[in-house]
Amino acid sequence: MSKIVVLIGAPGAGKGTQARLLEERRGLPQISTGDIFRALAKSNSPLAEEVRIKQTAGELVSDDLVIRIVADRTSASDCRNGYVLDGFPRTAPQAEMLEGLARDQQHEINAVFVDVPPDILEKRLTGRRTCPVSGEIYNIYFKPPKKEGYSDLYPDVQLIQRPDDMPDKIKVRLEAYERDTRPIIDYFKQTGRLERVDGTLEPEMLYREIEKTLGLDKYAWMERPATGLAGKNKI
Ligand code: AMP
Repeated sequence: MSKIVVLIGAPGAGKGTQARLLEERRGLPQISTGDIFRALAKSNSPLAEEVRIKQTAGELVSDDLVIRIVADRTSASDCRNGYVLDGFPRTAPQAEMLEGLARDQQHEINAVFVDVPPDILEKRLTGRRTCPVSGEIYNIYFKPPKKEGYSDLYPDVQLIQRPDDMPDKIKVRLEAYERDTRPIIDYFKQTGRLERVDGTLEPEMLYREIEKTLGLDKYAWMERPATGLAGKNKI
């Protein structure tokens, strides 16, 4: 049975990086609802405006919309052999919808809780900077660019800070995580489908841990050669 890998954890836990590695090395498409909404928010429509307002405030987009978007994206042919969810489900109705989806698509759910203590989360979020061209992610505390404020790959391109990575917005996002998403983690745990990994590990070490918990390390021969382009599509 193929897998729906659910990477679950607080904002800033590193889910996006790990999801991209799983896509790059295992061919499991990364479905990041945050990325989908950031792309949608750039367009010009009442719906885009609604998403923009929610995202900028650090608040969750309505379950109804998220559910429709995930149902649509996961019905694409590249998801036939499984996929990685990054940032979904985040609420009880979303988790419920995922159960139905998994049943219909005949996938099993494997949830991986990327656990990071609050003090590190805060530095990861406040320090995060993104190259708008390559999508590469830096951090002023943990992974600074060679030249402050500028991309390593495109030295003339200024790094940007996500509007929802401002301290007041981070507070709202972390509160939403504790209120809405924590219970989902407990739910996956109680139903025997949750593994915890230490999200403070270096990305490569963490990736190996995740592969182990998913049983993918037994299939090392299937791994695709690394291209070093993880993160190229991050918005
Ligand atoms: P992320 O990049 O996953 O931190 O998501 C950024 C923002 O996108 C969130 O603060 C929400 O506004 C929206 N978003 C992403 N995923 C979801 C979801 N599953 N449910 C509701 N809102 C979401």
